[in-house]
Amino acid sequence: MQKENVDVLIIGGGPAGGVCAVTAKMNNPEKVIMVIREHAQQLVPCSIPYVFGNTLKTVENGLGSCAQAEEMGIEARLGKVKDIDIDNKIAYYDDKAIVFDKLVFATGSVPFVHASLQHSCTLDGVFTIVKNVERIRKLKAYTEDKQNIIIVGSGFIGIEIAIEFAEAGKNVKVIGGSEYILNRAFDTEIAQEAQALMEQRGVEYVGSDRVVEIIDKNNDNIVNAVKLKSGKIIDAEVVILATGYQPNTDLADKVGLSLGHYGGIWVDDYMRTYHKDIFAVGDCTARRGFLSKAPSKVMLASTSSAEARVAGTSLYGIKYLKGMSGTISIFSTKIGDTVFASAGVTADKAELKTNKMIVIGAFWGLNRHPAKIPNAHRQYVKLIVSKHGGQILGGQVIGGDEAGEMINLIGHIIESGQSVYNIMSMQVATQPMLTSAPTSYPLIMAAIMAIKEIEG
Ligand SMILES: Cc1cc2nc3c(=O)[nH]c(=O)nc-3n(C[C@H](O)[C@H](O)[C@H](O)COP(=O)(O)OP(=O)(O)OC[C@H]3O[C@@H](n4cnc5c(N)ncnc54)[C@H](O)[C@@H]3O)c2cc1C
Repeated sequence: MQKENVDVLIIGGGPAGGVCAVTAKMNNPEKVIMVIREHAQQLVPCSIPYVFGNTLKTVENGLGSCAQAEEMGIEARLGKVKDIDIDNKIAYYDDKAIVFDKLVFATGSVPFVHASLQHSCTLDGVFTIVKNVERIRKLKAYTEDKQNIIIVGSGFIGIEIAIEFAEAGKNVKVIGGSEYILNRAFDTEIAQEAQALMEQRGVEYVGSDRVVEIIDKNNDNIVNAVKLKSGKIIDAEVVILATGYQPNTDLADKVGLSLGHYGGIWVDDYMRTYHKDIFAVGDCTARRGFLSKAPSKVMLASTSSAEARVAGTSLYGIKYLKGMSGTISIFSTKIGDTVFASAGVTADKAELKTNKMIVIGAFWGLNRHPAKIPNAHRQYVKLIVSKHGGQILGGQVIGGDEAGEMINLIGHIIESGQSVYNIMSMQVATQPMLTSAPTSYPLIMAAIMAIKEIEG
């Protein structure tokens, strides 16, 4: 059997594996760092929705590049790791072996499908969104001559795909299982606004009902319709199940790593498993919420990359004391020319509301000034704030493109434990063509509104 020796072996070449490799090499240039990945071509996962419509147009336009890793001298092998001898530190793929000193699991996540629908996944026309070039090519090719598409799931992946298909001229229905779309990330009034914009773009939303059966009327292994809990039958030529993801941990489980809640690999703040030389990063890990510390199902490339940077600097001893203290669930999406972005807790979180622990500060303004300036867009900032101390626990933004970065600022405010009193007197750069007015900067105004609430 062919055997190679490396210092650090990373299993998986998704965002987490790639960022971990680059960070590890930057911090340990003398070490041999190797990534083993299953596929020669790697799609940028977040770009997948945009290959189905007019935004990226082709699957090729969604491909990522490994140029940086190659330039840095990071080794790469193609293959699937099937087994690991933990005691002797050997990973096996095909008929080859790699001896390692440190091992990083970055095996990601795979689509989650409710048990009641799993048997229907073999029907022609039923798809999940697998982060794999060939599977996405197959789905795109299948839909080319089809008109009626049903998306099951109203999270951001289902919504982004639905809008792309609708803009490409298809009849698209989203079946959500909740009254409004995006309801995990946004409070009701914001989710309603996002939904209205989605509907304006031609996507029909069937909320508060859910798919209980996928139907093959002619018994020819081709999907024709779905049946809802209410008994309603909706015809479909294509059914896309966008019903979430689960950690890909079969290998970790097989070799005896401890798994946490929801099946992710248990890790500490520095992404170390219980085994001192084995780390795990990205969607395959057991995450917890930043504030609640409760197990979290959040799966994001941004969180995965942050974890990968922590692991990449901690492989040979903890270099920086800043570890991962949990996910702040930070994310953004765009519907037409409007961005919806969210970080931290929502106000609809029952426990916070019923315990009267929070106040809300919210402000509608503009992203430019004065109002007549070209390209001005409404900007709404809502802050969810601890009543005791004024700490900012969550934020939601509606706005133009700048809302995508505004939420990153709010995310940092949440992560660094800042309060509305810090934000009230925050210094910002303002310019008519670029930002809101200094006199009514929505983030600052939302903080001031929260202070008013706290002080009654
Ligand atoms: C359609 C879509 C849109 C998204 N949009 C966003 C977005 O806008 N913003 C955002 O932050 N997140 C987004 N996400 C989530 C984001 O893509 C994931 O959180 C991210 O891909 C996780 O990265 P990862 O490297 O941990 O795992 P993955 O991307 O799942 O990569 C894991 C890799 O490991 C490989 N692998 C697994 N097992 C083995 C093995 N035994 N041997 C070798 N290789 C193996 C897999 O083939 C895979 O390539 C989106 C996801 C999807 C599906």
